[in-house]
Amino acid sequence: MSEILDAAVAGASPETLGSLPMPETYRAVFVRRDEQSIFEGMASKDKDPRRMLHVGEVPVPELAPDEVYLGVMASSINFNTVWTSIFEPLPTFGFLDRMAKESVWGQRHALDYHVVGSDAAGVILRTGSAVRNWKVGDAVTVHCNYVDDQDPSSHDDSMMSNNQRIWGFETNFGGLADIAVVKANQLMPKPAHLTWEEAGVNALCNSTAYRMLVSRNGAPVTQGDRVLIWGASGGLGSFAVQHVLNSGGVPIGVVSSESKVAALHELGCEYVINREEKNYQFWKDEHTQDESEWRRLGKDIRSLAGDDPGIVFEHPGRSTMGASVFVAKRGGIIVTCAATSGYLVEYDNRHLWMKLKTIRGSHFSNYREAWAANQTIIDGKVVPPLSKVFPLEETGEAAYEVHHNRHEGKIGILCAAPREGLGVTDPELRARVGEDRLTIFRRHDRG
Ligand code: NAP
Repeated sequence: MSEILDAAVAGASPETLGSLPMPETYRAVFVRRDEQSIFEGMASKDKDPRRMLHVGEVPVPELAPDEVYLGVMASSINFNTVWTSIFEPLPTFGFLDRMAKESVWGQRHALDYHVVGSDAAGVILRTGSAVRNWKVGDAVTVHCNYVDDQDPSSHDDSMMSNNQRIWGFETNFGGLADIAVVKANQLMPKPAHLTWEEAGVNALCNSTAYRMLVSRNGAPVTQGDRVLIWGASGGLGSFAVQHVLNSGGVPIGVVSSESKVAALHELGCEYVINREEKNYQFWKDEHTQDESEWRRLGKDIRSLAGDDPGIVFEHPGRSTMGASVFVAKRGGIIVTCAATSGYLVEYDNRHLWMKLKTIRGSHFSNYREAWAANQTIIDGKVVPPLSKVFPLEETGEAAYEVHHNRHEGKIGILCAAPREGLGVTDPELRARVGEDRLTIFRRHDRG
C-alpha cells in the first residue's frame, strides 16, 4: 500500500497526511466494458459476480474542486454492485457514457472499467479547492446520492433532481477500493464508537430505509403503526426494523430461516414470520397468483400483531407485490424501493382502490435524510447489521453470497484497513451501546 494510506490507517495528523504524496494508482474492484455482453442469454441466477468483479490497480483520477480523495478503510456489498456485476437490468457503462456528455469533469467517468461500490468509511486524504466543511484527516462515512448542485431541480428534494445519480453505480470511482473520489456533499461524520467495518456498511441501506419509514417523503411511521417488512434481516430490512421500533411502531418481519428469526428477536422485533416454514405460494404458476395465499398471509399477520399493517415495506417486487397490496390495511401505504425478484409487478387493483390504499415509490435519500439516518447511528439508536467481513480481494465471493441470499444483514469489505477492529475512538459510547447489540448479526449469521 502507499505511504499515505499507511499513514491514514495509523491515524496520522492532517499535516503528515497533507505532506505525503498521493499515489498514481490504487487498488480497486471494477467491471470491464469489454465483458459487458458476456452473460447475454443466461438466467439471472447463473450469472456469477465472481467472474466479473476484478481487483487490480487503476490510475488515480484528477480531483474536481468540490471533491475529496478518500482513503477507504472499509466498504460494503450492496445489491447494486450485484446488479452491476451481472450487467442487469443494464450494463452500467451507459450511465458513465451519459455522464461524460454533461461536463468536463463528467468525462473522467467514461472509462473502459467501472470502479464500483456505494458505501465507504475512511479518512480524507485531499480536499478540492471548493471544499469548505471538511479537511484532510477527517474520519467520515459516505452517502451515495450524487447530485449536481447547479441543477435547479435538485434544490427542493435532491432525489427529485433530473440528473440525480447513485455514486459507485451510476458514477465511477466508487467505494470498493483503497481510494475513492467523493463529492463534499456526500460526506458525513464517522460514528466514533464503530470500527471501520461497522461504519462502512450503513449509509446506503440505512438512509434508504429512513426515507421510506421516517421522512415525510416516505411513509412515516407513528406510534402503534403495524409495519410489514419483507426481508427484515437483510440490508434494508434490518435498518427498517430499527427505525420502526424507534418511531414507536410495531414491526412484523418476514424472513426465511430460524437464525434470521432469532436475530430479529434479539434486535427487538417481536413478531416475525418465517416464510420458508409457512411456504406461501403467492404464484400458482408464472402467470397466475393465488388470492387465498395472500389471505393466509393476512390472517397470519392479524393473529400475530392484532391488526393489518398500515405500512408495507416492499422491495422483493414481483414475488410479493400482489400480497403486499392485499394485506395492507384500508388506507394503508405500500412503500417500495426495489424489485429484486422482477420489476414487472402485478396486483389486484380492486384491493387498492376500494380500500383507498397507496403505492409510494422511494429511492435512496437526500443529504438531509442521509445525515439524519447517520445521526441515528452516531447516537447508538441504530446498530450496524454487520454479519461478515471479506477482504477487498474477495469482493466477488461476497457479492455472490448476496446474489444468492446466503447472507444476513450487511457484508462488510475491508479495503485499506489491514484488519478488523480498528477505528473506534469513543470506547465509552461503544460500551454504552453494548458489544452484544453491536454483534447481533455476526452471532446469528449461519455462514
Ligand atoms: P438483501 O440484503 O439481499 O435483503 C433482501 C431480503 O429480501 C433478503 O434477505 C430476503 O430475505 C428477501 N427476499 C429476497 N427475495 C425475496 C422474495 N422473492 N420474496 C420475499 N422475500 C425476498 O438486499 P437489500 O440490500 O435489502 O436490497 C433489497 C433490494 O432493494 C435490492 O433489489 C436492492 O437493489 C434494492 N435497494 C434499492 C435501494 C434504492 O434506493 N432504491 C436501496 C437499497 C436497496 P429472506 O430470504 O430472509 O426473506
